[in-house]
Amino acid sequence: MIYYKTTAEVELMRESALLVSSTLAEVARILKPGMTTLEIDAHAEKFIVEHQATPSFKNYKGFPFTCCISVNDAVVHGFPNNTPIKNGDIVSVDVGVFKNGFHGDSAYTFAIGSIEEDVKQLLRVTKESLYLGIEKAVAGNRVGDISFAIQDYAERKHKYGVVRELVGHGLGRRLHEDPQVPNYGKRGSGAKLHDGLVIAIEPMINMGVKEVWYEDDGWTVKTKDGKPAAHYEHTICVRRGKADILSSFDEIEAAEKANTALDSSYY
Ligand code: MG
Ligand code: MG
Repeated sequence: MIYYKTTAEVELMRESALLVSSTLAEVARILKPGMTTLEIDAHAEKFIVEHQATPSFKNYKGFPFTCCISVNDAVVHGFPNNTPIKNGDIVSVDVGVFKNGFHGDSAYTFAIGSIEEDVKQLLRVTKESLYLGIEKAVAGNRVGDISFAIQDYAERKHKYGVVRELVGHGLGRRLHEDPQVPNYGKRGSGAKLHDGLVIAIEPMINMGVKEVWYEDDGWTVKTKDGKPAAHYEHTICVRRGKADILSSFDEIEAAEKANTALDSSYY
């Protein structure tokens, strides 16, 4: 069942999505080597609650934290833990908030200190693949047009691995609604996109093989070959001609550039 949103509902969803963006920007301001991912999670939770919202992920199907924080070879759904992050790490932070009855969902991968050139390219290509997918998220296209654009760029052009097990999704009053939005697929296939469809597009791209495995915690997804993975996500609304991006990386990128403990030279 696909729910199309009214203009008023889309504006409420924009508020939720932009609060996620501000939460990620807050993370970008405090990130530095030596910090643990549990500290990041606590900070994000406090920020969300202070803004009269609820973390969407906490207790979702038993997930115990506010953020999914996935370091290096962790792709997504990482459990925050007590291991300090260090120079050269990449840290993917995925956050959702629930406010005014609607969820927002976005993710961003941060580079700690300075990172290797091949990892910079992974981050750049993953972020670019997200925007190539969004370009196809217009009324009249199909889900497969988004999927193909991401896969074609990341996998065919750059020889990266596109994770198959996890996909983007519709969202609204529920965190996960129909349709699923895979990061791989055929042009012209899948559900037709109509005005007012709100979806999260979220390429999960591995530097090496596409295969993944699950940690003992039952959540953390890691690359099979141990190479790093990147994850960027926006909540968008399908419109005629051009998608409306409800979340934003503007504040995050400004904070990333201002934080000398982060490497923003990759884009
Ligand atoms: Mg997310
Ligand atoms: Mg999502």
